[in-house]
Amino acid sequence: MVALQRALPHHATPLTGLLARVGNTPLVQLSRVTEGRLAPGVKLFAKLESFNPGGSVKDRAALSMILQAEASGRLRPGMTLLDSSSGNTGIAYGWIAAQRGYKLKLCLPANANVERKATLRAYGVEIIETDPLEGSDGAIAVARRLAAQDPEGLLYLDQYSNDANWQAHFRGTGPEIWRDTGGQVTHWVACLGTSGTFTGTARFLKAQNPDVVAVSVQPDSPFHGLEGLKHMETALVPAIYDPGLADLNLGAPTEESLALVRRLAREEGLFVGPSAGAAAWAALELASTLTEGVVVTLFPDGGERYLSEAHILGG
Ligand code: PMP
Repeated sequence: MVALQRALPHHATPLTGLLARVGNTPLVQLSRVTEGRLAPGVKLFAKLESFNPGGSVKDRAALSMILQAEASGRLRPGMTLLDSSSGNTGIAYGWIAAQRGYKLKLCLPANANVERKATLRAYGVEIIETDPLEGSDGAIAVARRLAAQDPEGLLYLDQYSNDANWQAHFRGTGPEIWRDTGGQVTHWVACLGTSGTFTGTARFLKAQNPDVVAVSVQPDSPFHGLEGLKHMETALVPAIYDPGLADLNLGAPTEESLALVRRLAREEGLFVGPSAGAAAWAALELASTLTEGVVVTLFPDGGERYLSEAHILGG
């Protein structure tokens, strides 16, 4: 319970029930996809975020942002939560809003897959579909416009600018990795969407040991198939993104990342989403250059969230 509470900012009362199940996800060692690529002194671990109640890493940030908004007095009973999302944050807000008694309006690119839309509807979320050609940046623009029109009734959580997003990882993901590696972690590798996961965890780990190397991962081109990730050079850069934090930036190719999604399922028994493939690709690239070290990466969600996209499954 202590570790769970640390995951959250400014909580007044201890969390119970499903909310108390956010975080403390398993850290597992990869042993098959690493074969022939790693020196004997190098280990590679992945944190499995599909074990969160809402099925993704975004449960951490969503819970942190909602509790912080409540604690600050900005979020009052009867208000409606608003944000943009490519899916996972929306689903996380969806179940937490249902649990806390709020309504939720979500701006979502119209081409979000059927699994995402159906899950959001199951939680009673009001979906506002935005121009698919404009991707997550188009959804952000619509959310900003709606927030400006009704500042009294809508609480715009703005995950891209909200410090409670990265703080969830500073208080949860980082300490969990430190604990579960017995303080032995040497490298932290994570993909960038809002950058909350990478930033909060990197700040915590570097505060424990300044020698920890932080590696951020982005798609290698603006036109990519890595759901949830941003190509920072060509996207609206999140306000919480700190480009000075990463010791190294790697550009993940879509095809190689998706090939790793398939290998993770077939060789490790780990069915994960495309961004986990990108994280695995980057972690392997990095780990294969080392002679010793404990490399930790994070798999943001599970493959079930992409079942309608057959190419990911190798179908
Ligand atoms: N992968 C997936 C599938 C996601 O939904 C997200 C969040 N958009 C990320 C990675 C990136 O996480 P973060 O926003 O914390 O950078």
